[in-house]
Amino acid sequence: MSKPATLFNRVALIGVGLIGSSIARAVRAQGAATSIVATARSAATRRRVAELGLADQVVESNAAAVEGADLVIVSIPVGACAAVAAEIGPHLAPGAIVSDVGSVKGAVVRDMAPHLPKGVHFVPAHPVAGTEYSGPDAGFAELFVNRWCILTPPAGTDPQAVDRLAAFWRLLGANVDSMTPDHHDLVLAVTSHLPHLIAYTIVGTADELEAVTRSEVLKFSAGGFRDFTRIAASDPTMWRDVFLANKDAVLEMLGRFNEDVAALTKAIRRGDGDALFEHFTRTRAIRKGIVDIGQDSPAPDFGRPHPDLPHEPLPKPYGSED
Ligand code: NAP
Repeated sequence: MSKPATLFNRVALIGVGLIGSSIARAVRAQGAATSIVATARSAATRRRVAELGLADQVVESNAAAVEGADLVIVSIPVGACAAVAAEIGPHLAPGAIVSDVGSVKGAVVRDMAPHLPKGVHFVPAHPVAGTEYSGPDAGFAELFVNRWCILTPPAGTDPQAVDRLAAFWRLLGANVDSMTPDHHDLVLAVTSHLPHLIAYTIVGTADELEAVTRSEVLKFSAGGFRDFTRIAASDPTMWRDVFLANKDAVLEMLGRFNEDVAALTKAIRRGDGDALFEHFTRTRAIRKGIVDIGQDSPAPDFGRPHPDLPHEPLPKPYGSED
């Protein structure tokens, strides 16, 4: 099958961590751009990006990266987006598309838009895909395959620019949807931000117990705890910024969550097995729905490989003859 046409001439990647480096790898794999220019905040990351060969050119400043680029993607913590937009604004090429990958959209639009000149198309995006790892080594080209990328173009954005960015994400394997920044932030507050807060909380709670030792928590973690630890291992800077930037939606969802915890607490205290059973039956159906639409593997235990049984001979049954 022939490769699809190159969508962009020069893609500038500002920030080359998990997401930026996955974009770089996928752009290369799919031939989505003629060339990639990349930059990162630290010299150490820039050096690593060059070593990994993730870009055609690695430059030292954000301003230099965007010169002549027809697509600029900012893949840095959301709290840093305002300063970067102010820095790149005067250097953007007319007609360029500027996008980001931030996990919060309202704050990013508010912070970046005022710094972008007329004639530049601002199409914010959020690829809803990730892992708990960070940095340029953590990325992989297939990260976005069959995941959703949500575009939140401000009212009045040129539809051709939106279509072009949508085509870019589709080429990287993603499904594309559009919504307003506020709606995005509400949806993600419940599907991503609250689950991370719960994971950070429960892992912290277990760590601070006195009657149960830390080594016991680790040793018996397969009972459920370890699945929270994956999420709670996510990057502290990124997640600090998410909660600061999506404060209102997270507080709204947290209020509802606390009410539901109170209801389950009451059911346990009163021995109301029917209420617990009904609740758990409903939640099990949600897991099935996620698997049914292909957003997770149906393999039990998240498809973890299981070790073989030990090979020592079984003890002889009691009373058997030699
Ligand atoms: P990451 O692996 O930690 O990489 C972050 C990148 O941003 C690095 O290149 C880092 O440069 C740079 N950076 C950090 N602070 C900066 C600052 N103050 N100014 C300029 N650059 C800075 O993070 P990531 O997981 O790729 O996340 C990047 C963005 O993607 C975030 O906005 C996040 O909300 C969003 N996102 C993340 C996920 C996920 O699962 N991780 C999923 C979807 C969207 P140095 O290496 O030089 O410090």
